[in-house]
Order: sequence, then structure tokens, then C-alpha cells
Amino acid sequence: MYEPLSYNHWTHMAEPTQDPAGSTRPDLAELEPGELETALAAHGAPRFHAGQIYRWVYRVGVTDATLMTDLSKGLRATLASAFQLSTPRIVQDDLSSDGTRKLLLELADRSRVEAVYIPDTPAQTFCISTQVGCAMACGFCLTGKMGLVRHLTAGEIAGQVRVLAHATGLADKSFNIVLMGMGEPLHNYDNTMKALRMLHAASGFAMSPRRVTLSTVGIVPAMDRLAREPLMPNLAVSLHATTDEQRTALVPPNRKYPLADVLAACRRFPLKQRSRITFEYVLLDQVNDTPEDARRLVRLLSGMKAKVNLIPLNAAPGIAFDRPSDERVDAFARILAERDVSVSVRKSRGRDIRAACGQLIVEGSTTRRSAAQALAVHL
Ligand code: SAH
Repeated sequence: MYEPLSYNHWTHMAEPTQDPAGSTRPDLAELEPGELETALAAHGAPRFHAGQIYRWVYRVGVTDATLMTDLSKGLRATLASAFQLSTPRIVQDDLSSDGTRKLLLELADRSRVEAVYIPDTPAQTFCISTQVGCAMACGFCLTGKMGLVRHLTAGEIAGQVRVLAHATGLADKSFNIVLMGMGEPLHNYDNTMKALRMLHAASGFAMSPRRVTLSTVGIVPAMDRLAREPLMPNLAVSLHATTDEQRTALVPPNRKYPLADVLAACRRFPLKQRSRITFEYVLLDQVNDTPEDARRLVRLLSGMKAKVNLIPLNAAPGIAFDRPSDERVDAFARILAERDVSVSVRKSRGRDIRAACGQLIVEGSTTRRSAAQALAVHL
């Protein structure tokens, strides 16, 4: 198992909840409602305060327990002394000409991740990271080039939503979440699902899982596990190729979970009425964007409740592929549409601030691990 880095760097934190002594006070940001109730009971406080605390942390957005003014002074003091409340710190806030906003967030151990707000799609959408870096090593993805640095905790995943919701003024409005930032959510399964439970809490954001889309390279056992979750998000699968040979070259986990297995897992994935699985397909000029590829894709998806989201490559230095012309993208999309496959072409938002798909990377990361090594361990 991959060992997440331990949190022993509290001295670097500027938050009032920092713990210079490096003690292991429980973190309010890491507790799902039931755990918070238990922790309160252990301090002799009634369990129902958990809902109030959730409202302060998620809805109101306080990062300091002493500000939770509908709690007794005694309980506030207990929360402030016996717990901490970690909140990602905004270190950079970039606004794209199309309204996309990319936040660079620093975590308690000084790791950095990116979280993106994509307005008016027509929904308001937050694109959230689940890991620092990524072990999947997809050939066209900048995050993949970093290798995996570490998993995010549940509180850090939900914390990105807290910070985005308050930075955008949407904490009391409805928004969607796509787990399409840095990382592979199914490689950090437990923390990702715990974050969804925290975001679902009634006194917090009360997010419906229907508003959450989890995007994966297709880790089959984890997909089967997801299929049994009470809080099941929408599923998006990064397909990107129509033959095993090509998919293994582009998406290395395909070696362990080949196309037929990933598609079989999709076919048995329980779908609600009217919902479909999204298949993401990044278009690489002259590589996987030919009419034969499009026709093979139609055959692979036949009989499935599917929609295809074509993503013309977001090119970047260090990526050895090109973005196809609009004509090639249209021709590919047309072949799918003519054969009754629902298809959309993803508009690349935030390209001028490098907030687009696969462009999330934290520059100057020194803790790079070998992606190949991480894969060998985890898949
Ligand atoms: N690990 C998850 C989430 C990754 S990001 C997954 O693989 O699904 C979401 C999508 O962006 C994925 O489909 C990913 O393959 C795609 N992507 C990565 N790099 C890209 C790039 N340079 N241009 C366009 N899409 C890219």
C-alpha cells in the first residue's frame, strides 16, 4: 500500500488552528457527521451540535471554531483547544478570459493542488483534485508527468469545495462537482467516497450524488465497488482509444484492465433511469482520430447507455501529441452522431491560464515519484 505522507509540518501553517507542537488533535475538516458526533460525545457535548458545526464549516465557511457563535462559549473553547480545522489556503487565483477560475491551493503539509471553477456550462461546476500528482501516467496528461506525490485526505478533497464555494459566492446555491482535477479518484477510493459523504451532509452543502461526476481511467475492481455505494456519483470513463494496443500506449493501466474488462464493468454498472455513462475520448491528431477509430468506438459502445465526450487535446510543452484540426474533430463527431451515439465536443475552458483538462500541474514539485513504480505497486 502507498503510505500517505504524514502530517508533521504544522509549523508551516499560517491558520489560527495550527498546532506548532505537531500534536494529533482531531481535525474537524476530516470528520464525517457520524464521526463528529462521536467526537463531541467523547467531550461530553450533545451529538446534535454536529449539524451546527457542519453548517458553520461548510455553509458559512468559518475556519476558526471560536466564530461559531450559536455554540456555547464552553464548547467553542473545547473545539478550539481539542481540535484543529484545516482549510486549504489560496496561494494563487487566476481568472481566464472565459470566466474559468483556477485556484492554486496549499495544504497543511505545503503540498499544492489545483481546483477550478467553470461557470455557466450552464451549471456552475467545480473541478476538484483527489491526489497530489497522479500515478496513471497517461501519455498526454501533464499531471501524469508529475507522478504520484500523495493521496489527498477526505477533508482536503471536501476542503477544495469549501474554498471554491466561498470564493465564488456559491455556498448557498447549487453547483456540480467533477472529479476531473489532478489525480485518479478510484486510486484514492476511501478518501474520495468519504469526501462525498461529507459534502452530502444535510447541514453542510447537502450535495446530491447526481451532481457529482467521478472520472476514472477504469480501475475495474474499484468500479464494481462504486456500483454498490449508497452515494453513487455519475460515472465518466476515460477511454481515449479503441484497441488495447493503442490504449495501453496512451493509458498505461489498460495493461492490467483492458478495454473488454473496462467496458464489461460499464455494462454491469447500475444506472438510474435516464442516466448514461460518459466516455471521455481525448482526440490526438493522426493518432486516435481517424474514421476507423470512430467506427470502432461506435461498435465498442453498441447497446450501452453511453454518451461520448470528445476532448480535443489541450496541447502543452512536454506533451508529444498535437491537437487535431476542427475539421477532423467534426468528422469524428459526425460518424458517432450518424450512428446514434450521443456525442459532445468539450469546449476547452481556461486554456489561457492552463486550467483545462490535463493541464493541471504544480510547477516546481520536488517530490516526484516514479509513476511506473507507483503503478506497479497499486494496480
Ligand atoms: N484520472 C481521471 C481524471 C483525470 S482528468 C481520469 O483519467 O478520468 C479528466 C480528463 O481529462 C480525463 O479524461 C483525462 O484523460 C483528460 N485529459 C488529460 N490530459 C488531457 C489533455 N492534455 N487534453 C485533454 N484532455 C486531457
